[in-house]
Amino acid sequence: MALSGIQIYKLLPASSKNPEVKKHANCKECGFPTCLAFAMKLAQKQAELAQCPYVEEESKAQLEASAAPPIRLITLSADGRKLEVGNETVMFRHEKTFFHPPGLFVRVKDTQPDAAEVAKAVAGYAVEYVGMDLTLDGIAVEADGGDFAATVAAVKAASSLPLILLTEDPAAAEAGLKAAAGVRVLLWAATPDNWQAMAGLAKQYNAALAVRPAETDLNALAGLAEQVKNAGVEDIVLDPACRDFRTSLQTFTQLRRLALKHGERRVGYPILAFAGNDPLLAGQHIAKYGGFIILDSFSPATVYPLLVLRANIFTDPQKPIQVQPGVYEINNPKPSDPLMVTTNFSITYFSVANELESSGLPGWLLVADAEGMSVLTAWAAGKFDAERIAKAVNNNGLAEKLAHKRLIIPGHVAVLMGELEEELPGWEINVGPREAVDLPNYLKMQWG
Ligand code: SF4
Repeated sequence: MALSGIQIYKLLPASSKNPEVKKHANCKECGFPTCLAFAMKLAQKQAELAQCPYVEEESKAQLEASAAPPIRLITLSADGRKLEVGNETVMFRHEKTFFHPPGLFVRVKDTQPDAAEVAKAVAGYAVEYVGMDLTLDGIAVEADGGDFAATVAAVKAASSLPLILLTEDPAAAEAGLKAAAGVRVLLWAATPDNWQAMAGLAKQYNAALAVRPAETDLNALAGLAEQVKNAGVEDIVLDPACRDFRTSLQTFTQLRRLALKHGERRVGYPILAFAGNDPLLAGQHIAKYGGFIILDSFSPATVYPLLVLRANIFTDPQKPIQVQPGVYEINNPKPSDPLMVTTNFSITYFSVANELESSGLPGWLLVADAEGMSVLTAWAAGKFDAERIAKAVNNNGLAEKLAHKRLIIPGHVAVLMGELEEELPGWEINVGPREAVDLPNYLKMQWG
């Protein structure tokens, strides 16, 4: 159970009865002005216990127990690929960050002749987005009256992805688990009728187990999860048995709130969501607390926006996505080709690089370290000024590498032109366009 700030304070050195510990009270070594301030930040999960070196062992044990993740981390794996879901600590991304993106799975049935081909296509799908490779996470294989074990084996061989096994029949579940040997799977579902048998299988085959009540009922769900836990299964996933927009949003939000705000350990697990063939519902589940999301079919046109949505929600809002500063060669440039400079905010970099690449024009793109900010933001913050740009030019040896001394700066920072001419004697500073999309035309017109 999470402790309040005052409860935490009572376990810190300022409240200690041991004079050797108490003498450190309010010493500021944790980075906060008082023990009370540190306690408040710990309660809000905006500080780490390790920041205070003077917490007594007994207090540390209590504080660590209370700091245990309110939503358990569940790991699925297959053939070197690992999917981790859970360990979330906040309701809203801007409060801190979301840590583990939900796994996106595609469902195939054991009556589906092309199940293995679909699995192969899912495994092979990857798109690059601002320097990240976005991929799907696994296959959900459903027992639908066909040869379940054979389908699981074929899907496993074709995809090498984590699996979810969908069946309420313990006999089919065991056959599927045997066929999935070597893969850490999620088994769905333990219900009020079969939970003992399913819990036994989950333990025996080291699988995570999804629990599903007869209908959407949080008390029944929490009770079932507790029964399964008491039977020895630690890795539990919740299926609250809702499939529509409104009930899913309400129920998933309630579950998250119960786990995070009320310390309700019985529902402190990731949620399994079924999106059917509705990408909008899948999008809702990505944004609002789905942990494992099953799509009923695979289509690149559907999954691409979902993967991009997920990538955007599950990046740390406090850390801009950056690319490595340095010199990037676009379209095999020669020493006589133009040199442009921009910042290392990845969306800025990819906007410029993509425009250049698709134009076919060769050029050198100097990426200055602007702490991951875009051009105007970095300029306003003093992170993209004449001194930094000149340093980047000199540190990368561009005067020696190129057959000219002309540098194109973004139009948004035209104001830097004079200062740059002073910082880079002998260089000609050209003001380029404000928008990356105008760069190819600018180069064609101005560079010669
Ligand atoms: S490090 Fe912080 S919490 Fe620890 S004793 Fe000093 S002020 Fe208090």
